Amino acid sequence: MLRPGRDGGVVLSVKGFSAAFDTRPQKGLGFVSHAHSDHVAAGRNVLATRETISLIRRVWQLSGGYKPIPYRQELRVSDSVSVKALNSGHVLGSAMFRLDIGGESLVYTGDINTVPTLTTNPAEPVDADVFVIETTYGHPDYVFPPRHETEAWILKWVSKTLAEGALPAFKAYSIGKSQELIKLFNTYTSLPVVVGKTVANASKTYVENGVKLDFIRSGTRDAAEVLGGGEAVYIDSQVRSVPVHRRVKWATVTGWAVKGRLEGFDAAFPLSSHADYRGLLNYVEENRPRKVYTIHGFSQLFAKTLRLRGFDASPFT
Ligand SMILES: [Zn+2]
Repeated sequence: MLRPGRDGGVVLSVKGFSAAFDTRPQKGLGFVSHAHSDHVAAGRNVLATRETISLIRRVWQLSGGYKPIPYRQELRVSDSVSVKALNSGHVLGSAMFRLDIGGESLVYTGDINTVPTLTTNPAEPVDADVFVIETTYGHPDYVFPPRHETEAWILKWVSKTLAEGALPAFKAYSIGKSQELIKLFNTYTSLPVVVGKTVANASKTYVENGVKLDFIRSGTRDAAEVLGGGEAVYIDSQVRSVPVHRRVKWATVTGWAVKGRLEGFDAAFPLSSHADYRGLLNYVEENRPRKVYTIHGFSQLFAKTLRLRGFDASPFT
């Protein structure tokens, strides 16, 4: 049986076994799929990947009773239950959890991305009877342009903004999107990248886990020098005042930008850490689960779309 958790997420109770996904476990095992704040749950016996645990500790300063689970290794938790973490392609450390309970299998995807990015590999295929899949962008209006096109568009905007004598600044999630932007500027430009404190903490964790990133933390002498000197890019998790004597133009990066410019920003780019409508559909069709529960975003509509394609699908929330 599946039911919503007290603070979001999903609770599974079956054959005397209980598991809480992205919500605080009342009993049994807990699972945290990735380090975004709306998915992090504390408690004893909470499993997450080593990378997710480091991000939770460094960025959110939570200690919690987390236990590391390596990717792709079957972990036996009782005579009849085993669990495996698979890459979900969303951010560093993001995992979906596949549980085998007495011969029946279920996968909880957490947030999922099915295309490669500059900092992550796409979600792995998974074979399971039951899927609990996120459907943030499960609406046909949300089909993202190819990533390299969006990247080129971002680079063009940066160079235009600098040519106007302004500082290009980005508001982006501190975990995931910010590092993808840093990597983009590191790869295709020689611009120094100055980042806010939370972004710097998350980026350090990426570096410790093998993702090479060059950035300067704001508030340091180096950052003041670079920002004062002219050409640079600024990235933060919030729009805030940047200590520069020039105009600052703010852009944001989010899948919602596929519908156009977002209020309060000079530009918005549809760079997302989630699968788009087509990505979600392909993922379900390729893995062919027996039953699908959809969660988050367009869960009702996407479940209906799946039913029309012959799947047994219901919205979970
Ligand atoms: Zn997320």
